[in-house]
Amino acid sequence: MNSSAALNAFKALLTPAQILSVPEDMAPFLCDWRKRYFGKALAVLLPSNTAEVAQIVRICAEFHISLVPQGGNTGLCGGATPDQSGSQVVLSLKRMNHIRALDLDNQTITVEAGCILQSIQDAAAEQGLLFPLSLGAEGSCCIGGNLATNAGGTNVLRYGNARDLCLGLEVVTANGEIWHGLRGLRKDNTGYDLRDLFIGSEGTLGIISAAVLKLYPMPVCQWTSLVATPSIPATIQLLNLFKQKATSLLTGFEMMTAESLALTEKQFPQMRNPLGENPPFTVLIELSDHESEAHARNLVEAILAEALELGIATNAVIANSIAQANTFWQMREHITLAQAQEGANLKHDITIPLSAFENFITATDQVLREKYPQVRIINFGHLGDGNLHYNVAAPTGVDSTIFNAANEALVHDIIYSMVEKFGGSISAEHGIGQLKMRDLRAHKGAIAHDLMQMIKTALDPHNILNPNKVLPAKVN
Ligand SMILES: Cc1cc2nc3c(=O)[nH]c(=O)nc-3n(C[C@H](O)[C@H](O)[C@H](O)COP(=O)(O)OP(=O)(O)OC[C@H]3O[C@@H](n4cnc5c(N)ncnc54)[C@H](O)[C@@H]3O)c2cc1C
Repeated sequence: MNSSAALNAFKALLTPAQILSVPEDMAPFLCDWRKRYFGKALAVLLPSNTAEVAQIVRICAEFHISLVPQGGNTGLCGGATPDQSGSQVVLSLKRMNHIRALDLDNQTITVEAGCILQSIQDAAAEQGLLFPLSLGAEGSCCIGGNLATNAGGTNVLRYGNARDLCLGLEVVTANGEIWHGLRGLRKDNTGYDLRDLFIGSEGTLGIISAAVLKLYPMPVCQWTSLVATPSIPATIQLLNLFKQKATSLLTGFEMMTAESLALTEKQFPQMRNPLGENPPFTVLIELSDHESEAHARNLVEAILAEALELGIATNAVIANSIAQANTFWQMREHITLAQAQEGANLKHDITIPLSAFENFITATDQVLREKYPQVRIINFGHLGDGNLHYNVAAPTGVDSTIFNAANEALVHDIIYSMVEKFGGSISAEHGIGQLKMRDLRAHKGAIAHDLMQMIKTALDPHNILNPNKVLPAKVN
């Protein structure tokens, strides 16, 4: 039997603590954060170093066992959950959590894939430096998962997404070789960019075991404000005003609708909008300054005064302490948690060109409401990046599980066809995983999809790396 021979080989390689095979021990690794996907596994393996990862992959290749890489298991597309066959292994990188080096001259940090994102931010901060990747799950997601999903988050506007923050990778390939691409170079034009191929590949092309990341000077201060706006066009005008006046000091621009904040207040009554009754749109704006507190404060006040004068903002509060700034961010971050508590909803992590934003929302809301008049639309997102989380919740009082099962396909179709119509993308930052795999070909285009399939076949000919994620497994 392949599986028992593979298990014996894993036991010869790893300590008992590194192999979980009892159902209760494996359970946390077998379902996703949203509890939408539940899988089974032959075992959960927890290697401690890259050499062990490489040997595990070689054993898997020999015995035709497929494996599912996993970091913090906070992904929102089911990419880290194994299938129902019970024949796959989950490869958790959690134990590989060492910071290998911090290079002050090069302003880089070299980390293992299982490092928790927040621990990397903290290590950089201890040296007065900033690792700018930041997202709601930063206390539990791992850098390997961030790179595998090309995570975005709240600082993309200024610093880019995970891809933009990575200079080099160490990767275990599908035949168990180690690609030593851990280079901290800002220029390296040596043919095809293998690093970029693995980033965003969601564990389907190779296993990221370590990375070299870019660091930045730590700003001396941040000013966070909440601003009420009357409409989407006003919100976009406000964004452009801040871009023009604050230029690179603008590091965050998050939009929250009244509905999304009402849901947060319902689930977390301590979270109150300091702007009073929720306006149509509440925008969280963050400026990070390298000069002085006074410089930043004066700038924020001047821009907000102009926005109020122009009527593109109707009210504003500036956080007067770090604690208050944190509560502003918590309002934003608790929307996702509030949605999870309210019951499963149909999520759409999309990007739309800002010039088409309003028309997209108006048209999509209209089509949805014609079909489902009582449905709740919970919109929020990283507006500075054109990224909208367009989420649809069952009407109040209707069982969300029943509603979602009956309507999911049609709701996705309505929204994704509108995304297509307005020139957007069906995945802004969460990836494809298994959630969007079936939609990918139609929206990516047949040629792009075929090229992706060719790359997959070339790098993983036996399809052992996270099969049926991103691309459907080919039937031979
Ligand atoms: C509250 C909350 C807020 C969030 N906010 C954001 C946000 O603002 N922006 C955003 O982009 N995402 C966000 N996410 C989604 C999620 O946190 C990110 O996708 C994150 O990058 C996943 O990291 P992880 O370590 O949890 O990966 P996992 O969930 O463990 O894995 C994700 C995918 O990467 C693969 N993978 C994991 N590790 C490796 C590796 N070492 N090598 C190869 N493949 C690997 C897995 O197989 C899977 O396909 C949020 C999630 C939550 C729960």
